[in-house]
Amino acid sequence: MRLLRPILSLVLVLVTTLLVSCSGPSQAKIPTVYSPEKIVQLQSYREPIASARESMETLKGFIQEQNWTDTRTFIHGPFGALRQDMSIASKKLLQKDQKPAQDLAKELFGHFEKIDAAAKARNSLLAQEQYIEAIKDFDSYLNLIPTNN
Ligand code: ZN
Repeated sequence: MRLLRPILSLVLVLVTTLLVSCSGPSQAKIPTVYSPEKIVQLQSYREPIASARESMETLKGFIQEQNWTDTRTFIHGPFGALRQDMSIASKKLLQKDQKPAQDLAKELFGHFEKIDAAAKARNSLLAQEQYIEAIKDFDSYLNLIPTNN
């Protein structure tokens, strides 16, 4: 009995410490800024997305020429991997940026679907309008991934 009391209080201390460290300020451990190392790491995720953004110019050309076959092929082809690239990159961002990035990616693909539908319907105006919206979301997405320059 004499030994039990200190053991009990030790157990109590341990339990309290555990509880505090679990339910406690776990929020404080989540980084809110990008470390230089993290920024370097993110570049390999950013690169394929940035190059897809550059290829949007090709899509723009097809839409301007009202080349609907190539417009549709382009959306279904080269952009196939983009969805996955964006999904992976989103998860590498700071926690606060993950949801906005995922939402923007979802928006972007919504615009691609509408461009596809516009191409199918040979609706030049709608295709151009949706292209502009896609560019906006694409750039907002890229702006969420920090760069060194
Ligand atoms: Zn949008």
